[in-house]
Amino acid sequence: MSPSFDPSSIQFEPTHYIGGKKITGSGDIAVSRPSDGEVVADCPIAGLDLVDQAVETARGALKTSGWSGCHPRDRVRALAAWADLVEAHGEELGKIEAVPSTRLISEVVKGEIPVIAEQIRFFGELADKEGGVLAPTADTELGLISHEPYGVIGAITPWNFPMSMAVWKLAPALAAGNAVVLKPSEMTPFSVVLLAQLAEKAGLPEGLINIVQGDGPTTGTALTAHPGIGKVSFTGSTRAGAAISENVARTGLKPVTLELGGKSPQVVFADAEFDKTVDLIVRGILPNAGQFCVSGSRLLVEDTIAERFIEAVALRMQNIRPGPTWDAQTTYSPIISEQQCNRIDTIVQQTIAEGAEVVCGGARIERAGHFYAPTILGNVTQTSAAVLQEVFGPVLTVQTFSSEAEALALADHPEYGLCAGVHTQNMSRAIRMARGIQAGTVWVNRYGRSRDHIMPSGGYKSSGIGKDLGREAYLGAMRSKSILIDL
Ligand code: NAD
Repeated sequence: MSPSFDPSSIQFEPTHYIGGKKITGSGDIAVSRPSDGEVVADCPIAGLDLVDQAVETARGALKTSGWSGCHPRDRVRALAAWADLVEAHGEELGKIEAVPSTRLISEVVKGEIPVIAEQIRFFGELADKEGGVLAPTADTELGLISHEPYGVIGAITPWNFPMSMAVWKLAPALAAGNAVVLKPSEMTPFSVVLLAQLAEKAGLPEGLINIVQGDGPTTGTALTAHPGIGKVSFTGSTRAGAAISENVARTGLKPVTLELGGKSPQVVFADAEFDKTVDLIVRGILPNAGQFCVSGSRLLVEDTIAERFIEAVALRMQNIRPGPTWDAQTTYSPIISEQQCNRIDTIVQQTIAEGAEVVCGGARIERAGHFYAPTILGNVTQTSAAVLQEVFGPVLTVQTFSSEAEALALADHPEYGLCAGVHTQNMSRAIRMARGIQAGTVWVNRYGRSRDHIMPSGGYKSSGIGKDLGREAYLGAMRSKSILIDL
């Protein structure tokens, strides 16, 4: 286990990072510690000029370094060296990550850092293995379908997993020969700067990763509208994803990948392994206090086992140790901000006013910082507020069903389709359900990603367009060109 530490021992330097240099800037977005509300620094805000400087620096770095046209083996080597450095600096990265975010030091250092390093290696290794296609044409022609990098990719990421989300954008883009201008969330602006510095230390050319800090309306809008950006890759809320699409359509079309919100069902049939499934439901909603896109926030359980099952889940959900993110004993994260904590409570109270029954929780945890109790709401319908809206907190709604057809109908959400869990020992039923559910990922008798980074991640419906992870993310960082030669 990573040791607890004193959060005041970490100095936060709120800077942009352009062309291998930290650039101080002005801005007044207070970055605070969700664990106790204390402000650690102000996040600067990059305006049009600085975004322009970052994009031009990225374009210049591509030209002078020859990154796009170098032997792919050189990119493999550089990314592998970066992954090694990320692992070697795991504890340092973990501390910078944990203090201003909801990420627990114990989870970041032991759980997340090794996975981030693996993902960097995974994409790096594709660079000299994934190629184009020789097209089946007439003998008198030669048809080549090749893949080329976009040039500069504009990436925008959320606060809930600041480093992981950044790496999901950076690693495929860089492996494919692009440069990146990244705008992290204004609430968690620090750890990605160290990530970028480590990349350069590992041998990636300066200026290939540039970081502009700031909010969505100013910095995000300037970045997505910039004519020097070849593609936008975004992870965040469906609302912001729609605003970005609109901005891109208005200011000059470019491809956009959107990884957005979710409201994912966990469907439990009566024949599921009882204890294992209880555990999967709890682990599908409590990590990061429910602040993760693929949280399984809608429990659908077969009526014959519902009472016993819900009771077991409720018992397990109360077995938490809330505390500061820098305390190695903490098992339960704070909520990112006072505003988000209030939003969670508003949705919960509205759902209760609509007739929901509180099985457990339903209120804030009274202590310093922003904490919300693990909450289960029963007696809800498809139109209850907490069923319709992405709460992005530790709130699980429960509905029951009596047939497979009813389970499938309830699993379908009118807006979201990010992922789903299906729990049953009947494999024919599991496959029918997996095929029928409208979501980008279905997990059967498990819940959550594995370390198989080849599996792409992305949503149906308003949960997104395009994929992170997998070959699809690598190919998504390139455009295809058809070359037809008359022989
Ligand atoms: P958010 O949409 O508020 O912000 C995400 C990022 O977008 C931030 O950097 C923000 O500054 C920026 N932004 C906001 N408005 C913008 C605009 N108009 N133009 C350009 N940039 C803009 O989301 P959040 O609160 O940081 O994160 C939580 C959301 O992210 C949830 O909805 C969650 O489901 C989603 N998420 C999705 C995935 C996925 O893989 N599908 C992963 C993690 C988080």
